[in-house]
Order: sequence, then C-alpha cells, then structure tokens
Amino acid sequence: MKLALFDDYRLGVVSADGRQIADVTAALPELHDPEPLGAGWWLRLCRDFAALRPRLEQAARMVAARPLDAVQLRAPVLNPSKIVACASNYGAHVAEMRESAQANAWLLEFDVFLKAPSAISGPRDPVVLPSEPVAQGGEIHYECELALVIGPGGKDIAEADALAHVLGYLIGIDVTLRGQGDRSRRKSYDTFCPLGPWLTTADEITDPHALDIALKLNGTPRQQVNTRDLLVEVPGIIAYASRVMRLEPGDVILTGAPPGVGAIQAGDEMEAAISGLGQMTIPVVMNSL
Ligand code: MN
Repeated sequence: MKLALFDDYRLGVVSADGRQIADVTAALPELHDPEPLGAGWWLRLCRDFAALRPRLEQAARMVAARPLDAVQLRAPVLNPSKIVACASNYGAHVAEMRESAQANAWLLEFDVFLKAPSAISGPRDPVVLPSEPVAQGGEIHYECELALVIGPGGKDIAEADALAHVLGYLIGIDVTLRGQGDRSRRKSYDTFCPLGPWLTTADEITDPHALDIALKLNGTPRQQVNTRDLLVEVPGIIAYASRVMRLEPGDVILTGAPPGVGAIQAGDEMEAAISGLGQMTIPVVMNSL
C-alpha cells in the first residue's frame, strides 16, 4: 500500500502504477485536522496502521481516484518527533569523505544523529539554498538515502523484532552543508530533507537490503548503489537508535549516504529514485532574501 499526504494534509492511497490517488480521509476513525500542527491523527495512524489498514483499503476501492498530478503532493510524514539519521553507513562513502580531508576521525564511524523535523519538504518542493553559508563559500551536498517511518516503535527494540516496527519506506535526501561545526546544524536548514514521493508500506518491500538507489544531477548519474552495501542494516540501526531514544510512531530514519555525494547549486535538478519506492524530481533554488 502506498500512503500519501496531499492538499490540506489529506490522506491518500496511491495506485500501484503511481499515477492515481484515492482520497481515503473519510475512512479515518477520527476527525481529520487539516492543520499540520494537529498531526496526532497521522501519528496514531502510524501506530495503529495494522488495525486500520482494511478500512483504508476498502475506501481506496470505493472512491474515484484522481490523477496524482492534479493534487499537491506533500511529504508523506507529519510532525515526526525526530529524524534519526545515520552517519558513515556505506564503506565507499566513508572512503570518499576520508579523501576529502574535511572529516575528523569520529565522523568516519557509524553513528546516529538528529536532523530537525522542520527541515522536511515535499517530493515536488524545491531545496532552497541558504544565502549566508553559500556567500561564505560553503558547499551544499545531496545525499540520497533509503528512509523509513516507524510504526509502533518503542525503547530497546531487539534486532530480531526491528522490522516489525517499520511502517514503510520512502526516498529521503539528506541535504548537507559541508564544513566544520555541528552536524545537526549543517543538516537542518529548512527544505534540507525532501521526503517522498509517498510511503510504501513495509509488506511491499520483500528485502530492504536489495534496493537500488539512484540520484541524477541534471540528468547525470551521481549516486548509484544497492542497499546490500549498508554497513549497519535496518534492524541494526533501529536497535542501536532505540537503545538511546524511544522511537515514536511516525519518526523518520535516514539510513545513511551512499557514495557519490557532491555539490548542488541554484538551477540544478535532482532526480532521486529507489526501486519499488518511486522517484522524485527536486529543483534547487537560491534563497532570494
Ligand atoms: Mn546522510
């Protein structure tokens, strides 16, 4: 099942071919709140999805679907309590960062860090480059990553149980200002976390460690990797993170940058795709302030 948020944060089910969307908002067990701050309905949907799924599937069959291009597609997450992102989770990316000589030794070890949820933007929204660090010569990079959304969640989740806590998978771009200083600040500018194009529920993904990730910049392939190359796989990431912090329903995890990262500039276009999860095309613009 492909879940999407669109227009006034309505809930949609996207057809298998990714071309149509059915509005299933009326099938929610509680009154829908179009205000993004009223995201409780979405977070409870993430927690209770297994129980709610049959009525959503039935609604998707009953209502007339619309062309996906006719709606405003939003990021398929709403007010997560946190974005947990992985650092140094592909060997070839660790090697390229080592060569760039920007990275201290501790930055080359697998770990998790936090990225501000306010950085999230939709699958058709531009990445807006902040003028101040760009004027100071700062390089801003794309990192196209397998992302996931937590369903039930919890604390101290065992690796053996971890995949049962994945509601679904999606594409994430962990946009990053390179350079010195705290990683969370450099990755938390507004629009630095495009997510989408929709949330593909975990049952549709037979093996999250056999997915092709591809990012093209202005039509040229820049990142091309398979998730089999992840150093710490999805269950290990969930177990590691949840030993530190409770993973709440609706939380987002970015699994780490594949090799091939590079700079983006105003006027660029990023085309990101992951097998089974769709694709999204993101323009890059400069903050005009
Ligand atoms: Mn990253």
